[in-house]
Amino acid sequence: MEEFDIAIIGGGPAGIMAAIAISSDLNVVLLEKNSSLGKKLLITGGGRCNITNGKPIKKLLNSFHDKNFLKHSFYTFTNEMLLDLFRNKGLDFITEDNNRIFPETEKSLDVLNILKDYLSDITIKYNYNVSDIKKDGNFIINNDIIAKKVIIATGGATFSKTGSTGDGYLLTDNPLTNIKYALVPLVTKKDLSDIAGITLYEVIIKYKHFKISGDVLISHVGLTGPGILNISTEISRNADYNILKDADVKLNESLAIDLCPNFNQDELRFKFTNDFQDKGKTYIKNYLKYFLTNNFIPFFLEEAGIDGETQLSRINKKQKNKLVESLKNFKFEIIGFNKDLSHVTLGGIAIDNVNPKTMESTIMEDLYFAGEILEPVGPTGGYNLKIAFSTGYLAGLSASKKIKK
Ligand SMILES: Cc1cc2nc3c(=O)[nH]c(=O)nc-3n(C[C@H](O)[C@H](O)[C@H](O)COP(=O)(O)OP(=O)(O)OC[C@H]3O[C@@H](n4cnc5c(N)ncnc54)[C@H](O)[C@@H]3O)c2cc1C
Repeated sequence: MEEFDIAIIGGGPAGIMAAIAISSDLNVVLLEKNSSLGKKLLITGGGRCNITNGKPIKKLLNSFHDKNFLKHSFYTFTNEMLLDLFRNKGLDFITEDNNRIFPETEKSLDVLNILKDYLSDITIKYNYNVSDIKKDGNFIINNDIIAKKVIIATGGATFSKTGSTGDGYLLTDNPLTNIKYALVPLVTKKDLSDIAGITLYEVIIKYKHFKISGDVLISHVGLTGPGILNISTEISRNADYNILKDADVKLNESLAIDLCPNFNQDELRFKFTNDFQDKGKTYIKNYLKYFLTNNFIPFFLEEAGIDGETQLSRINKKQKNKLVESLKNFKFEIIGFNKDLSHVTLGGIAIDNVNPKTMESTIMEDLYFAGEILEPVGPTGGYNLKIAFSTGYLAGLSASKKIKK
């Protein structure tokens, strides 16, 4: 059996960053079941890698449900420290809307290559699927490797073709929360294939008390786009299921979309009253071009039950109210998740049993967790890689310090 000071399981952003944080005089092995590192990292941000989010740290933390757990890791490994790792090797960054930070080359491969560059002192075993971890003083992995400390960074249970297959959840006795989809496109009750491809720009998506603004993309099976992905996490949080047990998740939820955020209901009603008099001969299908994307109008009018050929002067009070209501609260019934496209996993190793100051398990000494395998999840916009890098760094640093004591 080969012996190491620290074994890291999983060569995604969290595992790689853990390896980078470990003191270089320690004997470290990184075990990756794929034939290469960072498969999921490569597809982030559409191949451009939205590496982190540049909001000031307090605001950044406020974007997470589990900010108290994440706080120490975010302060230990800040955005500046992360970006400097790359700048020191010649890769700079650009910031786009909503503080999203990307490499200036807009290539996730450049990010991955620099990370790999930092791993020159580390043993990497590819095609190594960890299926068993025992502890007998030291850890014994697959009856093959002995390690004093183990860091589990095997990712979540979504986008499984990248290697994120949920293996890590069952490798230890650390308790799990329900495992759910997050940042996942939604399946609608109504068939939207006829209007697939349309984008509803700068609308507000409403679900229970949540209101998220952004673009909504209509797909063949339902809805997607950043705003929808973010609200999907709240729908998922609210639903009672567990990926590990339930093959299919049926939903009975409703979203309302404010298609016209620049006017409130009263302003719209007032405007309609005036315009319907002034422009009485205009057809409603043409008038709505002021408010809606052209190719969405027929669908909108069908849902509102109003004939597009109706002249404005002929629209009665009931129809006017219906138009206002539909523009401000256009309803979509949601019946499921398009689970194969779920970006990340909500839930995982319960944070109640992980020390936020070190990422060490409070149940088993010398065992650490990092990245998506942990319970927290963030919105779109660089927040999930931020979790992976910061918790990965903290886990590596803590394991390393403990050995050196
Ligand atoms: C399409 C898409 C786009 C995304 N875009 C962004 C973005 O732009 N910005 C952002 O912040 N986040 C983005 N994310 C989320 C981001 O990819 C994840 O948050 C991040 O990859 C999690 O890192 P991780 O290291 O914890 O897990 P992973 O990246 O999943 O890495 C886990 C690794 O562990 C390995 N592994 C698993 N089981 C075993 C085992 N038993 N033995 C050995 N190895 C094992 C896997 O093969 C894998 O390499 C995106 C996700 C998707 C799917």
